[in-house]
Amino acid sequence: MEYDIREFLRSISHPETGENLVDGGFVESINASEDKITVALRFRKAKDPFALKIKARVEEVLRKNYPTSTTTVFIKEGENTKAKRDAQIEAMHKNSTTTAIGKVIAVASGKGGVGKSTVTSNLAVALANMGYRVGVLDADIYGPSQAKMFGVEDYLPDAENIDGNDYIIPAEVGNVKIISIAMFIRPTDALLWRGTMANSALRQLIHQTKWGELDFLLIDLPPGTGDIHLSIISELSIDGAVIVSTPQQVAVADVVRGVEMFRNPNVNIPVLGVVENMAWFTPAELPQNRYYIFGKGGAERYAEQAGIDLLGQIPIFQSIMSGSDNGLPATKTDSVVEEYYRQTAQKVVEKMW
Ligand code: ADP
Repeated sequence: MEYDIREFLRSISHPETGENLVDGGFVESINASEDKITVALRFRKAKDPFALKIKARVEEVLRKNYPTSTTTVFIKEGENTKAKRDAQIEAMHKNSTTTAIGKVIAVASGKGGVGKSTVTSNLAVALANMGYRVGVLDADIYGPSQAKMFGVEDYLPDAENIDGNDYIIPAEVGNVKIISIAMFIRPTDALLWRGTMANSALRQLIHQTKWGELDFLLIDLPPGTGDIHLSIISELSIDGAVIVSTPQQVAVADVVRGVEMFRNPNVNIPVLGVVENMAWFTPAELPQNRYYIFGKGGAERYAEQAGIDLLGQIPIFQSIMSGSDNGLPATKTDSVVEEYYRQTAQKVVEKMW
């Protein structure tokens, strides 16, 4: 919803400067729930003569698009600490640890529970098995699970200061470097971590983690579309997005939204394709049988309609679930799962060049 609101605000321009509210930096924050929307606008100039007019226009647009929500629009004035913060961010970008990363891939899903994190970790292992140097950034602030999936949930990252710059040391399992927002917050605090706090923490994780040289960095995004996605997208150049979905029709509808977010002209990230997870179930005692528990081929159909590739179909395997729970991605231990992920990873690699 915050994402949509931001897009609506992008359609409003400052009458004097001509800049739209988003790119002109007038939108300080957007907070939205089902029935309440709060937007804070900041005007650099004290007593900006257009402030009230713009406020009224924002209220009008929000009321029109969200007639059942209560909308509150605040006006703030002056540079505040923003300029200082911008300078810090600029310095962070200048010394960013991402400069030796080959390709950055975002892993997204329309909703939670479809196996986005599981696919991320197994894909990372499959790429590592192919000899690539891989990093995983767990940016799913709503349910960060990469540390658990790689069996490093007790890992507390060290900081290292080199020539006056602070670096964060990631966990390392096999050939995969892992850093997760969960290594910095208690799970019970996760929900408090929305908005600017989460954004600035993620910015630090992106630019200060000692990634070294990597061929691939996989980013496990939160489910859905929202502000966190946009801020990550603006922090580093993402080379492609992989969308994870289950075959259900509802999940497929969510895929559409995900694809649209990446294809938005302001975002413009190539969608590499969709991975259909939990595509079918095969019981061990009947290896030829496939049971399409969540329906058949939903993602395949959508992929065709939307003109995106089906990167792979991953069946339901007990070993995948227990692997996630035990901190050992099944791609490491189960050769059948490994083969599915190897083929999927191969397709991802081919799409990258
Ligand atoms: P998301 O990141 O989309 O919220 P998760 O990766 O956490 O979803 O997966 C949700 C649950 O489904 C986990 O318990 C995981 O082990 C299980 N799971 C995911 N994919 C499979 C699969 N192909 N076979 C069996 N279990 C799976």
